[in-house]
Amino acid sequence: MQIFIQGNLGNQVKELQKDDHNIIFTPIQSENDLEQSYDPYQQIYIMITDNPLVDFGKTLEKMVLKDNKIFIPIIISFPYLTLGPLSVKGSEGCFHCSIDRLLQHDPSRNLLQDTHQHYNLEENENTVGIHPADTLTISNWINNLKVARDEVVENWKGKISRLNLYDRSLVSSQVIGVSNCEICGIKQDIKKKSYVNMKKYLEEGIFQL
Ligand SMILES: [Zn+2]
Repeated sequence: MQIFIQGNLGNQVKELQKDDHNIIFTPIQSENDLEQSYDPYQQIYIMITDNPLVDFGKTLEKMVLKDNKIFIPIIISFPYLTLGPLSVKGSEGCFHCSIDRLLQHDPSRNLLQDTHQHYNLEENENTVGIHPADTLTISNWINNLKVARDEVVENWKGKISRLNLYDRSLVSSQVIGVSNCEICGIKQDIKKKSYVNMKKYLEEGIFQL
């Protein structure tokens, strides 16, 4: 397992996991260094950051899924701490899709885009205070992944869990893949997804009892 970290949350998880020598912790430098810092011999890749490093995450996810491995982003975009989606090849709803969906449905889409752009370019990292309970939760989740990998992958693939760090509310949902996503590979023609299919079914009488 390789965990890319930036900020308090990642550093605290590293501290909790320091006795596990099977985990490689890699500080996030820039997207350009990823080629060198990426260890191709791991099975699971996690990114833990105090900022929405969207471009870094997307590039990392692309590399990981190309190798048929597992990717999980754990990101703080204040006030939210988001875990997931757990991304594996061939399963609908990856990090790429989740960001696209977020932009599609956000009423302040431009602002969100600017925010992502800001953190992509920002050299100085912004760190936030993390409640110790949240660090423990993340660390325990990783422990679970270590001992029951298949089960966790099955339960979490394409799933996102978002905790509001202010009011402690938690929302979980399944990421709906965007059409023709280049990462998770749901290469469905948009024309085949809509009523066109229904018309065909109706014509073929599939709906007849
Ligand atoms: Zn996708």
